Amino acid sequence: MDLNDRPEHKVYREEVRAFLSEYKHLAPGESAFSFRMEPRKLREKVQIWQGLLVDHGYTSRTVPKKYGGFGADVDILKNRIIADEFFATNVIQGLGNQGISMFVPTVLEHGSEELKERYIRPTIRSEIVWCQGYSEPNSGSDLASLQTSAIEDGEDFIINGQKIWTSGAHIADMIFCLVRTEPDKPKHEGISYIVFPMDTPGIEVRPLQTMTGTPSFNEVFFTNVRVPKSNVVGNRGEGWAVANSTLKHERGLLGDANRSLDSLLRVKRLLQNESLDGQPLMENPLFRDRFIKLQARVQAMRLHEMRMTSEADKGGGRSLGDMVIKLLGCELNYQLDGLGVDLLGEIGILYDESPMLRDGGAWQANFMFDLGLIIGGGTAQIQKNIISERGLGMPREPKVAQV
Ligand SMILES: Cc1cc2nc3c(=O)[nH]c(=O)nc-3n(C[C@H](O)[C@H](O)[C@H](O)COP(=O)(O)OP(=O)(O)OC[C@H]3O[C@@H](n4cnc5c(N)ncnc54)[C@H](O)[C@@H]3O)c2cc1C
Repeated sequence: MDLNDRPEHKVYREEVRAFLSEYKHLAPGESAFSFRMEPRKLREKVQIWQGLLVDHGYTSRTVPKKYGGFGADVDILKNRIIADEFFATNVIQGLGNQGISMFVPTVLEHGSEELKERYIRPTIRSEIVWCQGYSEPNSGSDLASLQTSAIEDGEDFIINGQKIWTSGAHIADMIFCLVRTEPDKPKHEGISYIVFPMDTPGIEVRPLQTMTGTPSFNEVFFTNVRVPKSNVVGNRGEGWAVANSTLKHERGLLGDANRSLDSLLRVKRLLQNESLDGQPLMENPLFRDRFIKLQARVQAMRLHEMRMTSEADKGGGRSLGDMVIKLLGCELNYQLDGLGVDLLGEIGILYDESPMLRDGGAWQANFMFDLGLIIGGGTAQIQKNIISERGLGMPREPKVAQV
């Protein structure tokens, strides 16, 4: 595929530049998207920016117009132009989160017309914030063993049980949640995927402290939570397929190469602006060597993702290439953060309020947070199992006998 801009793409690049020069003053700072901030405080600003991006097709580009999106066809060159120009202007492109990047594509694929019409528009405009209720204290990697129950009662389900590691539950408006509706069926067949508001009576959220010092995930308890049956996404008892659709999008989000490019450019800025014993860090051969190796990997990931998007657009199914994005992308992000911390020397071990902090302490915080993302959305070991078994066709790992 020819990756050079064609005349229409040159025109498009000018359009993006014109948008940015007119509106960039409205863009929220990076902190608005950071897990270290309380997003509620910044919601209004984020919503205005997100709405502008949706209206101009710079985010949720391919979401159909009838559900509030821009309704464009997939165009990986235009996607690249948008990302390049936003990075060059140092402006946040748009939100990528559990609602926008995971729930919206899932409901588009599996949801009823009613659910699509109700939730997609406000979600992509950031008027509804979502959290993901999958993991339970005894069900993480073996997610299908989950025990949260949903018992039929007239037109509703009554939900009881506990979720854990629920990112953002303390600020979310809605949850997409896996529950067991058919307890007598084999474990993969008894699950339903259901959505409900986080202020429904019977929900208790308890924040968990993380090593970043900021609670970003939670325990969530359900006691007799009543939810209409019509809130099930897909068919009742067929939630495993729906859950996997969300997981596929989650892995793409967590390993997103644009995010890695963003970190790389920030590392480059540190190399250019910081010095050691009077020598700019960019002239230090060891740091330069590490940077160039990571730069090559970021570029490889970007091209790889473009190839995957192009294959998916031609109707290709899930391939080996698709499966490696989460594993390699998350490890790459962690190594980029690590280089940032090393470049800062002793400043790199400061935390919180120090006046010496660079970039508000983002390097140190991201270094700790991104370690977690190698685990979240399926651990590196589980990704390797999936890649080897489903991607490379290697023998399945032996199942441990149930006692
Ligand atoms: C930052 C972060 C955010 C998260 N956000 C959410 C969220 O919003 N919603 C949500 O539902 N969950 C969330 N999670 C939970 C996450 O999905 C689980 O942590 C993950 O699936 C692993 O499950 P577990 O923690 O129970 O570990 P376990 O499954 O108990 O695994 C423990 C260890 O054993 C290894 N292991 C397990 N089985 C195998 C196997 N078959 N082969 C080889 N090794 C194996 C694992 O790789 C791991 O190292 C989040 C986690 C993190 C770290």
